[in-house]
Amino acid sequence: MAYKVTLIPGDGIGPEVTDSAVKVLEATGVSFEWEIVEAGQKVIEKEGTPLPESVLESLKRNRIGLKGPLTTPIGGGFRSVNVALRQMLDLYASVRPARSIAGEGTLYSDIDLVVVREATEELYSGVEHWVDRDHSAAETIDIVTRKASEKIVKFAFEYAVKEKRRKVTAVHKANIMKYTGGLFQEVAQKMAKSYPSIQFEERLIDNMAMQLVKKPQDYDVIVTTNLFGDILSDLCSGLAGGLGIAPGAIIGDGIALFEPVHGSAPKYAGKDKVNPVATILSGEMMLKYLGERRAAERVWKAVYDTIREKKHVTYDLALPGYTNRPVEPSTCSAMTNEIVKKVEAF
Ligand code: NAD
Repeated sequence: MAYKVTLIPGDGIGPEVTDSAVKVLEATGVSFEWEIVEAGQKVIEKEGTPLPESVLESLKRNRIGLKGPLTTPIGGGFRSVNVALRQMLDLYASVRPARSIAGEGTLYSDIDLVVVREATEELYSGVEHWVDRDHSAAETIDIVTRKASEKIVKFAFEYAVKEKRRKVTAVHKANIMKYTGGLFQEVAQKMAKSYPSIQFEERLIDNMAMQLVKKPQDYDVIVTTNLFGDILSDLCSGLAGGLGIAPGAIIGDGIALFEPVHGSAPKYAGKDKVNPVATILSGEMMLKYLGERRAAERVWKAVYDTIREKKHVTYDLALPGYTNRPVEPSTCSAMTNEIVKKVEAF
């Protein structure tokens, strides 16, 4: 039976990198039926919105999606499509693994951690206003609820159990933000008691940023609120080699959307130049989510070996200034073909 998956190619480099991911996923032999729907800047003129109802309907029906990056329109009163998708489908957990791939693009060759970020509330609730008519002060409301905190912390522990991880670190700023941070801290401490086999610890956000740069190997699953998670997940993507190879997912109860961390990089659109690995590894996360563990392992190994061999890698893993092992850069399609070949061979 084929898995029916909503495919959103997206804007800019999105169609190229999602096409690569589809080729690699199909090379595993797992059957997919792709329901292609369009969102983003390219549909605004025709649909009057970057997020047509048909996209939401498709995701609600299939409960699983693979998505390219979307350009956030500047001005025009449109909300970020990504934020809207999270809120409308209650995709409350943003999951971003950071694994060093063959020591490429990173000072470390042994990072293997995951940032789990609450993705629907807190400082990104969108409740903002000017305090006075002169616009001399502005206010953003930081909303943290017990319900959302419990959902995300439980998600992190369940993820740790499922992925055979050893430790969960809860990150907050409860010493200063005593209500919002304090609530998240209380929920995490309580939840940890239900998972005695998983080690639990806490870090203040400022200390966590420093620790991650100094000793990222010490961390495993990190769970935190929206703004801190946004920053830490980019920090971790950088630690583990950069945007070209950083995958991600936003997950709710029984629904999941897999997407690279990077944006639509419009200046490279249609140039067959960018790294497809971030989207391919988002597909690998999707395979794991579907329980297709053997296929996921083959994809991971094919990506790892391609990057280690460095015969067919894109500019961000090839050129001096981006890597300390410079080689001649390949195209997006050549790198994809190499990964496909390896997946088929394993
Ligand atoms: P970006 O990630 O698109 O690009 C930043 C730079 O990173 C690029 O110029 C390029 O040098 C590099 N880069 C990105 N992806 C790469 C890849 N696969 N391989 C090699 N190099 C890569 O970020 P930006 O320029 O800030 O944003 C462009 C647009 O994307 C904006 O409209 C933004 O809102 C949107 N965006 C969307 C998402 C999403 O849909 N999830 C995420 C981030 C940004």
